[in-house]
Amino acid sequence: MKKIGLLVCIFALAVGFFYFDLNQLLTLDGLKSGLVQFETWRRDSPIFVGGVFLLLYVIVTALSLPGAVIMTLAAGALFGLFWGTLIVSFASSIGATLAFLVSRYLLQDTVQSRFGDRLKAFNEGVARDGAFYLFTVRLVPIFPFFLINLLMGLTTIRAFTFYWVSQVGMFVGTLVYVNAGTQLGQLESLSGILSPSLLLSFVLLGVFPLMAKKILDVIKARRVYAGFTKPKSFDRNMIVIGAGAGGLVSAYIAATVKAKVTLIEAHKMGGDCLNYGCIPSKALIKSAKVAHQMRHAENYGLNSSEPTFSFKKVMQRIHDVIAKIEPHDSVERYSKMGVDVVQGYAKLIDPWTVEIQLNEGGTKRLTARSVVLATGARPFVPNLPGLEEVGYYTSDTMWEAFAKLDEPPKRLVVLGGGPIGCELAQSFARLGSTVTQVERSARIMGREDEEVSAMAQESLIQDGVIMLTSHSAVRCEKEGEAKRLIVEHDGQESMVEFDALICAVGREARLEGYGLENLGIETKGTIVTNDYLETLYPNIFAAGDVAGPYQFTHVAAHQAWYAAVNALFGTFKKFRVDYRVIPWTTFVDPEVARVGLSEQDAKEKGIAYEMVRYELDDLDRAIADSAAKGFVKVLTVPGKDKILGVTIVGEHAGDLLAEFVLAMKHGLGLNKVLGTIHTYPTWAEANKYAAGEWKRAHAPQRILNWLEKYHTWRRG
Ligand SMILES: Cc1cc2nc3c(=O)[nH]c(=O)nc-3n(C[C@H](O)[C@H](O)[C@H](O)COP(=O)(O)OP(=O)(O)OC[C@H]3O[C@@H](n4cnc5c(N)ncnc54)[C@H](O)[C@@H]3O)c2cc1C
Repeated sequence: MKKIGLLVCIFALAVGFFYFDLNQLLTLDGLKSGLVQFETWRRDSPIFVGGVFLLLYVIVTALSLPGAVIMTLAAGALFGLFWGTLIVSFASSIGATLAFLVSRYLLQDTVQSRFGDRLKAFNEGVARDGAFYLFTVRLVPIFPFFLINLLMGLTTIRAFTFYWVSQVGMFVGTLVYVNAGTQLGQLESLSGILSPSLLLSFVLLGVFPLMAKKILDVIKARRVYAGFTKPKSFDRNMIVIGAGAGGLVSAYIAATVKAKVTLIEAHKMGGDCLNYGCIPSKALIKSAKVAHQMRHAENYGLNSSEPTFSFKKVMQRIHDVIAKIEPHDSVERYSKMGVDVVQGYAKLIDPWTVEIQLNEGGTKRLTARSVVLATGARPFVPNLPGLEEVGYYTSDTMWEAFAKLDEPPKRLVVLGGGPIGCELAQSFARLGSTVTQVERSARIMGREDEEVSAMAQESLIQDGVIMLTSHSAVRCEKEGEAKRLIVEHDGQESMVEFDALICAVGREARLEGYGLENLGIETKGTIVTNDYLETLYPNIFAAGDVAGPYQFTHVAAHQAWYAAVNALFGTFKKFRVDYRVIPWTTFVDPEVARVGLSEQDAKEKGIAYEMVRYELDDLDRAIADSAAKGFVKVLTVPGKDKILGVTIVGEHAGDLLAEFVLAMKHGLGLNKVLGTIHTYPTWAEANKYAAGEWKRAHAPQRILNWLEKYHTWRRG
């Protein structure tokens, strides 16, 4: 209501301005003809007239009415160069700031909440360089004054910054116009005030601070190299440290574009994903799912049976799967591509030199113009009293250790309710372990919407997981062979006995031991990089888990493209890493897949959204597969066919998501999904039906009413 009141007020004042023909007064001829009268008034009471003039100037500019230029000339004619400039300088800045505040009050929230995500880069640019840009456009009088006020109001620049930068930026222009006003008699037209050479001087003056800043940035970037001697020539174009997803893709790109690249891996080619992460966990999930399906075979008209199996064989299968995929990431394959693969531990000596402690013994030093750090992350182990004494496993150690067991651990504790903890807890429960999962927060998978967490939790509990949410692990105890975890809930301690404990409470970037400290490369949980994935040293890049903010194989590969391309071709063109459409899946059963905003995110960020949902219990294929559980939930921009985010819970959710990832990446809306033929009967049809729900919600009711009348009439 207040906003409408303000709008009405502004509108009324603007109408009044034109109704009383004040706009005629604010023309060059109007000013010249009224000047004698104004001059008399000013001579009689200069302070009063000066004050009234300032007030009128503020009102005209605050309301974005035409006439500021004429009033500036009038200031020169009436008050002379000094006083005229002083009055106009303050009046125009105050008026501009009022217009800026009105625009901000009326529209900023709407604009930012509607386009916030897309404006993110712009907002960051404004936060970083906004004052410089404002100064430039203020100094060059070809940019309309009122438009700058209104547009800047929609940005996130601070009002005080806007005020003072405007005042400083407009000062020279004000001086020129006030000075022209002092010779009003000789002035024939407004265009005569600014000669082309004067305009050019303004442009140069305006661009100067921006250029100066850019030059300063370059000097600052170069200064980090002080104290190091840059090699005259380099052994390699690029050195990549770490052969996980991030490192492999970086090296692959470099070799493809014929750069000379060395890839250094201390341990196993393929990194965590192949050896300890995605692959072994997904192989385990499959065996566990088959066991689950055997137990529930009656769902398919078969006799249910308790699966009997050798755990050793299950674990052996996991290692066989790894072995089958290994050639994709092998030294041989990469060597064939033209990558020089070195097996050893790498350490940065200076920004261009890497020393390698070779696995076969000895050391080797190589220089490169650019270095990509893709050193990954490792499981975080909490500082829990007694943990070392009882012994524990992590994703790094469990695959080897469990391969030696004849049976799955009888009583297993999984610490952590994130995606990895949930996948492991469900799998081991399905394979027959009594699993207790301990999570400090009130719910598991806390990044997802509450209903998603609830569904996943219910599913894990149904599989037999003892779920201890809102429970903190306090300490571990060992008494003889007995191992216990003490947990605390609501101030009460209780005990969980276990045979094995897996720590899955998160993963921390590998940041020590390979030279970051010596070179002073900044870290904050991950290596600090800019939008181009450059570290403090513009020739050293980081990609993958070590760079954050996401810890997924596909994001590591995505970042690798930016790191490699910027490292090799950044002199000509650098690319900002694009995190707008990042999908992920947690492979619990039913799977949970997401891209873009969840409802929880949208609410936290204050982003307006509409939501449509399609329940999988309605999908023919899901019913045929006896897996009719879950939903497709799509968030869109209110009133627009633009997808903000999608969450899918259900069988094959990770695969179903791909269609929405493509749509979001390429700006396709739900109409396009709906207009695409989906094979019947497939799970993918769920996406089309979700799009159909959206279409139904946006059906043009008025037209449909008319159509109904038309058809009634046609029936006679
Ligand atoms: C149990 C589990 C399940 C997962 N499931 C999934 C999933 O389903 N989907 C998904 O997208 N992600 C999953 N992840 C995450 C995924 O594994 C990581 O995001 C991915 O491996 C990151 O790749 P990276 O290249 O950044 O690092 P890494 O794969 O960790 O590779 C880094 C490599 O650098 C080497 N290295 C480190 N320092 C040096 C040095 N100084 N010199 C030489 N070599 C060095 C290391 O030995 C390592 O091989 C899972 C992770 C785990 C633990």
